[in-house]
Amino acid sequence: MNRDTSNLLARRERVLSPSYRLFYEQPVHAVRAQGCWIEDADGQRYLDAYNNVPVAGHCHPRIVTAMAQQGDVLNTHTRYLTEHPILLAERLLATLPDALGKVILTNSGSEANDLAIRISRMVTGRRGVIVTDCAYHGTSDLLQGMSPVTGLPLGPDVHAITMPLAPEGPEQFAALVGEAIARMEADGIRPAALLVDTIFGSDGAIADPPGFLAGGVDAIRKAGGMFIADEVQPGFGRTGAGMWGFARHGIVPDLVTTGKPMGNGQPVAALVMRDMLALEFARMQRYFNTFGGSSVSCAAALATLDVIEDEGLIANAARIGQRLMAGLAPMIEASPALTGLRGAGLFIGVQTVSGDIAAAIVNAMRRGGVLIGAAGRGNAALKIRPPLPINVTEADHLLESFARALAKVEVSNL
Ligand code: PMP
Repeated sequence: MNRDTSNLLARRERVLSPSYRLFYEQPVHAVRAQGCWIEDADGQRYLDAYNNVPVAGHCHPRIVTAMAQQGDVLNTHTRYLTEHPILLAERLLATLPDALGKVILTNSGSEANDLAIRISRMVTGRRGVIVTDCAYHGTSDLLQGMSPVTGLPLGPDVHAITMPLAPEGPEQFAALVGEAIARMEADGIRPAALLVDTIFGSDGAIADPPGFLAGGVDAIRKAGGMFIADEVQPGFGRTGAGMWGFARHGIVPDLVTTGKPMGNGQPVAALVMRDMLALEFARMQRYFNTFGGSSVSCAAALATLDVIEDEGLIANAARIGQRLMAGLAPMIEASPALTGLRGAGLFIGVQTVSGDIAAAIVNAMRRGGVLIGAAGRGNAALKIRPPLPINVTEADHLLESFARALAKVEVSNL
């Protein structure tokens, strides 16, 4: 580790709260990034196959220029009449089912989810929320109680379903949601919403079979609740099958939340909902969010949408995702350390036998210059999520790095 990096770590320890955590045994001291690559303070380059924020690639010139140009002209909030939030809402709605007609812009996925829960509770007049058992939905006090992966206690009206790693289909998912509703009702709580990340990212990337989620959506609606699709991770084309993760399941949510990739790194997020919900919410209270929908954030999001479309990034996510899956499959067949391969497009989960093995592979790949992460029960699933423009050469580099790390880990850990 060079002197600058160790100095920075010491300064960080002095002033930043210890609740912040760095990734990897040897943290990456990032100084610049472009496309799928991050460069550290020693000039070493890392293929970033973890970070699902820079969906169009790090520091995409078109998005950077759009932000800079907008920052030069006007950067203000939604209390003045400005075109940007309207344009962004129009563009977002054009990618979503017709039933979803109103948008609230926020700065983070947490704010969007918080609002989605608030609206579903206000409109139904009920409190109960169902989530999956390793879910993460945000950082507010409310959402920490709906994010079992944090290890914190669930909120008072929250029930979790145990997410199968290989769901059988809609009937099984309907039964799981049905059981949670029954448990909730036995406690005297009526269900307001089913809140799921439609790629089940922190549950370990559970994508298949397409359509399995539909059973749960039917079950919550029959019980009088709403379905909230958390698209913070799968949204903006990552699954390679359209813009939104829920579309693979053939469902139309009542509320959709977005975040992370929406501004390619600029904080911008959104809640999109049925018109009726927005009207009811507006009848009950006003909403204002100082930075939500500010001009520069909207410009970033609009440019991100342009790049996704103009560069054919969704098709690329499907194509390269298939190549990665095809390259990983024989390694999983052959390795006693790996037990499953899941995912869609450029959201790939590799099940390992333990959290220790997963961490060893993640750290070995980091030493080899490729960044991935771990998630799921016991952190035993590897999470691979490169920026969508990743090309064939970069994908093959990732596969070679994976094979090398796996070989090392098998020798020393099995
Ligand atoms: N939902 C999901 C599925 C997430 O992964 C995250 C962030 N990891 C959030 C919500 C919260 O988003 P933010 O960190 O922007 O508040």
